[in-house]
Amino acid sequence: MAYKVCKCCGQVYKTEKEFLSKTKFIGIQRFDPYNIFNLELRDCKCQTTLARKLSNSEVRLTPSIAFAC
Ligand SMILES: [Zn+2]
Repeated sequence: MAYKVCKCCGQVYKTEKEFLSKTKFIGIQRFDPYNIFNLELRDCKCQTTLARKLSNSEVRLTPSIAFAC
């Protein structure tokens, strides 16, 4: 089972590590005030935005760019 597959171009990311190295960090989408989890948004090489679920502790370790939605 692959970690993630881009539905647009079919790029397969076998592991989370591969996903992180081959995609471009866009920003963090926060779900305040509930804040149960956050989504890290990353761009595939085809410009499709893929989301990775982050725990709150991971968010603190990630350089944060506010994602306005
Ligand atoms: Zn793609």
